[in-house]
Amino acid sequence: MSAPETTVPVAVPHREPPAALTAWSERLTAALAEELPAALELRHALHADPRLSGDEQDTADAVVAALGLGEGRVVAGTGRLVRVVEGPGRSVALRAELDGLEVAERTGAPWAATGAAMHACGHDTHLAGLVALARAVSRVGGPAPLVLLLQPREERAPSGAADVVAEGVLTEEGVDSVVSAHVQPQLPAGVVNATPGPVNASSDEFTITVTGHGGHGGYPHTTADPVLALAAIVLALQQLVSRRVDPTVSAVLAVTQLDAGSSFNVVPDTARARGGLRAMREEDRLELVQALTDVAAHTAAAYGCTAQVDSEHNMPVLANDPDLARGAAGWLVRGGTTVDDAWRSFGSDDFSHFCAGARGLMLFLGVEGGPAGADGRRPGLHSPRFLPGDEVVGQVATALLAGYLAGAELLGEVAPPPAG
Ligand SMILES: [Zn+2]
Repeated sequence: MSAPETTVPVAVPHREPPAALTAWSERLTAALAEELPAALELRHALHADPRLSGDEQDTADAVVAALGLGEGRVVAGTGRLVRVVEGPGRSVALRAELDGLEVAERTGAPWAATGAAMHACGHDTHLAGLVALARAVSRVGGPAPLVLLLQPREERAPSGAADVVAEGVLTEEGVDSVVSAHVQPQLPAGVVNATPGPVNASSDEFTITVTGHGGHGGYPHTTADPVLALAAIVLALQQLVSRRVDPTVSAVLAVTQLDAGSSFNVVPDTARARGGLRAMREEDRLELVQALTDVAAHTAAAYGCTAQVDSEHNMPVLANDPDLARGAAGWLVRGGTTVDDAWRSFGSDDFSHFCAGARGLMLFLGVEGGPAGADGRRPGLHSPRFLPGDEVVGQVATALLAGYLAGAELLGEVAPPPAG
């Protein structure tokens, strides 16, 4: 997946934004530039000292200290919510993830992490960009109430975003829209993606257990062979996406793990398969979960076996609010950024939990993941060599600012910035 996707530049929207918001955009863009040098230092410090999912306390403390806006409210165990602009009225929330990954860094950067953890998903750049923008807003003000969500446990279950939502934080803080930005090496460097509607897939995992009747490998006619039944199930499942889901939307059903038997001459009693299911529409997800169960049961029956399917729903579809996405795209285009509004991927991100409780917008930022290796490929997300350049911090901040302005516009009447 190293080839960049086609980029479709978004035309400047016909309707001009309110003059007050244009004035805010100019003022905040100027203030943001002054915050970038400190933000780059923060990026290096966070990158050098990553924390794993569920252990992000120190990272949250470092970010809160850099913000200088008080301790904030503890959310989802090791996360924090920090208010930047008080109400009245509903708020825009900007979210960044706190956790690194269990990856031993091999970037060679002077500020590389030296332990077993690494910011190999770019969360250090997201945090630094968020701080830069928040400091700019706290200095010169902003067009709408603003809170920051420093979210733990994006990389590993249980999802920090799901916990933030379950704790009622969005409702209590009056959050109208949540905006986040994520680096994405599949997009050309510098391009920002703002797709209206579904952009990341839902994610389910499943286990199929086939039970038959084992026996001597030399007398297969005396057995009900669960290995053969499971093999037939795995192949049959590959026809579900092609025959049950609109091909222009598509889905992914992948069997990634097989487990059966312990000897070449013994037919085992059971065989097991595990895999994942990804969809862009909830109705497709429900259809596929049911079809998966039916196909497994009926195929197993044809082989004299039974099948049990256990599935777990991990994440809903990440669907961007169309108005928020188009609004942010407009601010980015007017600011000179190339915007793509068509890219989507079957990756998943727990930001999708926020989209179920508020207007959500996940912006993806094209980056180069680092220098190409001996095989000519550049490192991708979660690679031990993944290290987007420092310019990404400013791009993250600019993308978040566009989301903030778009969220403010959707809240209604905006007062112009105070003179001076
Ligand atoms: Zn990530």
